[in-house]
Amino acid sequence: MEFAPRAARASVLLVDDDTSKLTALEAVLAPLGQNLVRAQSGREALRAVLADDFAVILLDVRMSGMDGFETAELIRQRERSERTPIIFVTAYGAGEANLERGYRLGAVDFIFAPVVPEILRTKVSVFVDLMLKTDEIRLQAERLRELERRELSRRLERAELGRLQAEARFASVLDFAADGIVALDGQRHVVLFNRGAEHIFGRTAAETIGQPIDVLLPDGVEEFLLPRDGDGEGVGRHDRHRHEVAAVRADGTPFPAEMTISEFPEGGHTITAVILRDISERRAAEAEVRRLNEDLNQRLSAGVDLVAHLAASLDPSEVLARLLVRVSAAVKADEGVLLRVDDRGGLSVAGRHAAEGAGNDQLGVLLHRQPLIRRAISERMPVVGGGLDLGPPAEGEQAPMSGVLHTAVLPLAVDGRVSAVLVLTRHRDDPFTAGDTEMLLLIGNVATVALRNAQLFDEAQQASITKSEFLRMAAHELRTPAGVLRGYLSMLRDGTLGSSPPGWERPLEVVDAKAGELTGLIDELLLAASMEGGTVPVHPEVFDLREAVGAALGRAEGRATLLGARIESDLAADPVLVEADSEHIGRILDNLVNNALTYSAGEPWLRLSVAEAPPRVAVDDHGVGVDPEQAERIFERFYRVNDPALGYPPGTGLGLYISRDLAGLAGGTLALEHSRPGEGSRFVLTLRAPARTPVEVARPAPVPAGRRRGGR
Ligand code: ADP
Repeated sequence: MEFAPRAARASVLLVDDDTSKLTALEAVLAPLGQNLVRAQSGREALRAVLADDFAVILLDVRMSGMDGFETAELIRQRERSERTPIIFVTAYGAGEANLERGYRLGAVDFIFAPVVPEILRTKVSVFVDLMLKTDEIRLQAERLRELERRELSRRLERAELGRLQAEARFASVLDFAADGIVALDGQRHVVLFNRGAEHIFGRTAAETIGQPIDVLLPDGVEEFLLPRDGDGEGVGRHDRHRHEVAAVRADGTPFPAEMTISEFPEGGHTITAVILRDISERRAAEAEVRRLNEDLNQRLSAGVDLVAHLAASLDPSEVLARLLVRVSAAVKADEGVLLRVDDRGGLSVAGRHAAEGAGNDQLGVLLHRQPLIRRAISERMPVVGGGLDLGPPAEGEQAPMSGVLHTAVLPLAVDGRVSAVLVLTRHRDDPFTAGDTEMLLLIGNVATVALRNAQLFDEAQQASITKSEFLRMAAHELRTPAGVLRGYLSMLRDGTLGSSPPGWERPLEVVDAKAGELTGLIDELLLAASMEGGTVPVHPEVFDLREAVGAALGRAEGRATLLGARIESDLAADPVLVEADSEHIGRILDNLVNNALTYSAGEPWLRLSVAEAPPRVAVDDHGVGVDPEQAERIFERFYRVNDPALGYPPGTGLGLYISRDLAGLAGGTLALEHSRPGEGSRFVLTLRAPARTPVEVARPAPVPAGRRRGGR
């Protein structure tokens, strides 16, 4: 409402039935510059107060007709003038005037005639001022109210605008959300179906709204709603869990969906909001990842398996044959062909797997012409392609590798040269994939290592065989001259050839001892050679181990005396029976005793002890000892510890090798049980007790003198 400011003038009502008095009053009040309204009767006054608001009413008490008091009473009854100040004008003195009645009627003052103009003006001006100020205050108040009203309506407008915008935003969020958003009423009928839902379910909102939820989720939503008591407790709570549910599209195809559900009150009802996400793609991706993982696992375990299988053989041909079978299986080939590549690049078939009509000699030549194979060889990388064109079959022959639709070629290069090629074929229309190529690459790498190992081993073995063969021959050739030498020496010493010149006795003795040493070494070499050939004769018999040890001690006596060695023995009280070749056992014991004397530190000391269950001999010494790293190596063929402190005693490095082998031939073991450099060693020979009680206990056969090592 627009507020009309009042003119800055107040109205003053002058009531008197005497016009001359009215005029006099007007004259007195004119200087106030206010609007003076005159009324000549009570009735006129009443009309005036209905029409206007007055700052003050000057009311003559004594009027004809309705007097002042009566008029005042009626004025008070009018709502508009209920509080208008009234000043009674009377000619009576204060005593006569009915002041009390006047005041009761709401008079604010009395003015007694004759009127003193100054006083009248002052009194009236007070009320005029009051009214003008009141008006002003009201005006201000109304302005304020108006401002507040405007502010309020502005706020309301803003709020309304915000609400409309939010609604629009919400609608667009609903529509552009990728998720399907569906709202259900209390009967679980669809009341809202956004675009996302339309897209997911393949149906429009128009055809879905009003339908029961079962058309979307056949199992409904009841089981996912929060439990509630009697009157809707639980409403307004949100279930934060995601549930996987079965959903169905308009065309009837089922799909997995992820659902979150919440309920909230809306105008006395409960609305159930269901948010659905189609997770069929995610599930498919997960299944694919699982499949890939399984595939990878399979490949890996196949790879590991393959490594183990290939590495188990050290024969290059065997490695390749195994490879052919394994690779064919790994890439699901219907047929596999192994080709050898010769130094000039020629191909020959070295093996076929799962081949029908194998044995086509022409195959190598035919494959040679295949560009796919040539490419694989030159690039040294697996190559895959389609079928092979091997031309028409020869007369009466089945077409080689007929029906091949897809081919994979794996070249195998060792030391930069392709020495073999695997040609893998499929007769079904199922091309080799990138995964197959990867697999071939992996297998190729493994196979190359296995092949290289096998080749190296092969070469090493060839070298070893050549070396052994050479040694055997050399030893054999040396044996006869050494025998002749010893024969003549013996004749020189025993005077068969006449008495030797004086002073020759000692040198002849030394030469004879050295010749004996030489024969021993030759013997050792020959024995080692025949052991490798597996031609060492074994004559098992049952004998008392204590006696074998006693005999060995007897044989060592001479050398021990020469070296000033101390020998102790701890032989069991009762016979310790063993079943073995006694000559072999004598040789082992001689080796152990001689080693203890040879590898001594200072004055040699050794002790032989025999124990039973199982029958065994321990040889302890206080010698130089063996470094733990060499503990096993000293049993290797020709292995000797190069210790300058020992002054390179004569020896072949064959003693322990032969001894361990002989112990093995007797079904026993020989081990360095304990050793510490600088402190000494303990070698233990463990043998087998006879299977049954022997009828006769044989004496250990004497060991040929040539076996005994002479002094240093
Ligand atoms: P050889 O004695 O001819 O060298 P062996 O096979 O008998 O050959 O011994 C191999 C190596 O083992 C010896 O060269 C020596 O270094 C070490 N060895 C053998 N027996 C002992 C021992 N009792 N104490 C310390 N070292 C030993």
